[in-house]
Amino acid sequence: MAVTRRQSVPVPVGSVTIGGDAPIVVQSMTNTDTADAAGTAKQVDALARAGSELVRITVNTPQAAAAVPRIRERLDAANCRVPLVGDFHYNGHRLLVQYPECARVLDKYRINPGNVGFGRKKDSQFATMVEAALEHGKPVRIGVNWGSLDAALLTRLMDENAERPNPLDAKEVTREALIQSALGSAAFAEGLGLARERIVISCKVSAVQDLIAVYEELGRRCDYALHLGLTEAGMGSKGIVASSAAMGVLLQRGIGDTLRVSLTPEPGGDRTREVVVAQELLQTMGLRSFTPLVVACPGCGRTTSTVFQELAGSIQAHLRKKMPEWRERYQGVETMSVAVMGCVVNGPGESRHANIGISLPGTGESPAAPVYVDGRKTATLRGENIAEEFHHMVEEYVESHYAPRRA
Ligand code: SF4
Repeated sequence: MAVTRRQSVPVPVGSVTIGGDAPIVVQSMTNTDTADAAGTAKQVDALARAGSELVRITVNTPQAAAAVPRIRERLDAANCRVPLVGDFHYNGHRLLVQYPECARVLDKYRINPGNVGFGRKKDSQFATMVEAALEHGKPVRIGVNWGSLDAALLTRLMDENAERPNPLDAKEVTREALIQSALGSAAFAEGLGLARERIVISCKVSAVQDLIAVYEELGRRCDYALHLGLTEAGMGSKGIVASSAAMGVLLQRGIGDTLRVSLTPEPGGDRTREVVVAQELLQTMGLRSFTPLVVACPGCGRTTSTVFQELAGSIQAHLRKKMPEWRERYQGVETMSVAVMGCVVNGPGESRHANIGISLPGTGESPAAPVYVDGRKTATLRGENIAEEFHHMVEEYVESHYAPRRA
């Protein structure tokens, strides 16, 4: 089923474009201390190598703002050109003015209207940040968050709601406050001279149904490019499931021009996981292709050895590792599908549907593993080295089936 994307105004951000007809952009955020230029540059580079097309870094202190140009220099020296987004809260109006090199090297500024300033200072501090964007020719993301919503706006809407003959429930009013905060701030930024082609909007919440409701309404009311993300999605499988459920529904309805999967990493866990999950979400939905995906059966009582799980895992890891090189060398290799199946029940059928697939022998089956290439059985592997031989066949398939890229 084809997805029709909602029309949005394209926003160039460094070398990528968010919105319009551009592919949906995968982005991520570091969790290093930005003042540590070496550590932050290293993590940005890792995220970019994993496939993050934009990387956001927090800019929360003078030391962090001073480190931003050094982070950019280190990335450029490592030939990592990924655009950097600065995440500002509370003091962005000061940091962008006092650290013009920081303002110059960042590719986009994130402004949170809920904490850009309070009372009479709010508008002037917001305006200072927009003026910095105008001066340096940068786009901004007006990023509203459920956890730091503009308290004055929410109070006003709650009071107005209480006067209605049939008041809405508090959650509906809060959702409306998120939307009004984002759209009102965007209109204010436009009034200051920032073009629509320089504005991306987000309204992040932590509950799946709220995110869907808020973005459907945002999608109806505006044509700004939209950044999707479930904030505080959580750890491990819960974070992945919640993010996929919420963003999957919206993406299927054509809503969303860029996304971040905000996973809480396990202690010592790999930050790049959020990039892999975002890519897999887009790829399994058929919206973009990044890396050949392995189709593997879940296994059952018909296969009691761990050979097929090990082979499925090692092939997927191998494909991811090879992809940076293959992407440079071969056209279309990211669309390749590989099947690793556990027994004869669905093995041959699923393997025939893949570009290349192997059906391993289940318990009690003869110890032979037929390999299928483009739907035809081309070999049967036996013995101790089935995994190595299949890896080799996948390599050969890539070299012989994908046209070389012209330099
Ligand atoms: S293909 Fe075979 S091993 Fe895999 S789940 Fe199906 S029946 Fe079980």
